Amino acid sequence: MAIESIRTLPANQHVKNFSPFNAAAYTVQPGEHIRVETLCAASGAIRETVTAPTNDELYTKSGWIRGMPMTGPIAVEGAEPGDALAIHIHDIEFDDYGWTVAQPDRGAAGELIETAEVRVLPIKDDYIDFGGGIHLPFTPMIGAIGTAPAEEEIGSGLPGAHGGNLDCTLIKPNTTLYLPVNVPGALLGLGDLHAAMGDGEVGMAGLEVNGAVTMHIQLIKQTTWPLPLIDTGTTVSTIVSDEDLNLAARGSVQAMVTWIEKSSSLNMNESNMLVSLVGDVRICQIVNPLMTCRLDMPKRILEQLGISFEGN
Ligand code: CA
Ligand code: CA
Repeated sequence: MAIESIRTLPANQHVKNFSPFNAAAYTVQPGEHIRVETLCAASGAIRETVTAPTNDELYTKSGWIRGMPMTGPIAVEGAEPGDALAIHIHDIEFDDYGWTVAQPDRGAAGELIETAEVRVLPIKDDYIDFGGGIHLPFTPMIGAIGTAPAEEEIGSGLPGAHGGNLDCTLIKPNTTLYLPVNVPGALLGLGDLHAAMGDGEVGMAGLEVNGAVTMHIQLIKQTTWPLPLIDTGTTVSTIVSDEDLNLAARGSVQAMVTWIEKSSSLNMNESNMLVSLVGDVRICQIVNPLMTCRLDMPKRILEQLGISFEGN
């Protein structure tokens, strides 16, 4: 599809939760190519480096707007409960600067931090300038993307079965993310883009950026796949969030083992053995209110089992 035919959905339409009670801000057709603009996790407020003795003072001094804005809600025409959205991510663009943080008592090393700081880093054409001659590669990803749950409202900072704040480094260009449809239209929202982030998001933030995501969305009708699910072309991942990291890891494994047992000729023992031999359990993030893990399975093995993604 030619670039000029891509419709842009501006970030001024956004919500700070995933909710069946939100009205759609945009409606898109299955297969339509769209460019979704998003504000950073602080709603675009952070533009310069700021330090403060406490986290609360840092929020005040930096102008940090709390609650992550999710552009949307985006209704997908024809999406019905029981379907899945297949979100094909083509490209992620971002501004020429981003910010990250060190905060006392926040993040995996928070007890080592004495001064609260938000630091703005310049983004050059082909690297992130960390300062001191240190150049970082881009690893662009979508931090938070989700659909409305069936009955409850979930804040944009939480991950879960609806997607949301998964902070998974595989939600990136050339990946397809499958999310559940719980309400008519699905009511998709996304934001919290990162120009870079390591697995775990251990310091509470990636390189947080304003930006835009180019994508198209297709519908998988009445699927029984374990959702959320990610297809990178070479790996397929089940993703589970839980208050307990161990339970999140076990949940992601069990989602894959159960799916293979149900979808192939393998019995539960064989499925368990297969996942143990070739599946990789990974941490997505360990700093949100719930922790998120995934099980990465080689796609070619699933295809050998007859589990097909063809046509999606
Ligand atoms: Ca996040
Ligand atoms: Ca973030």
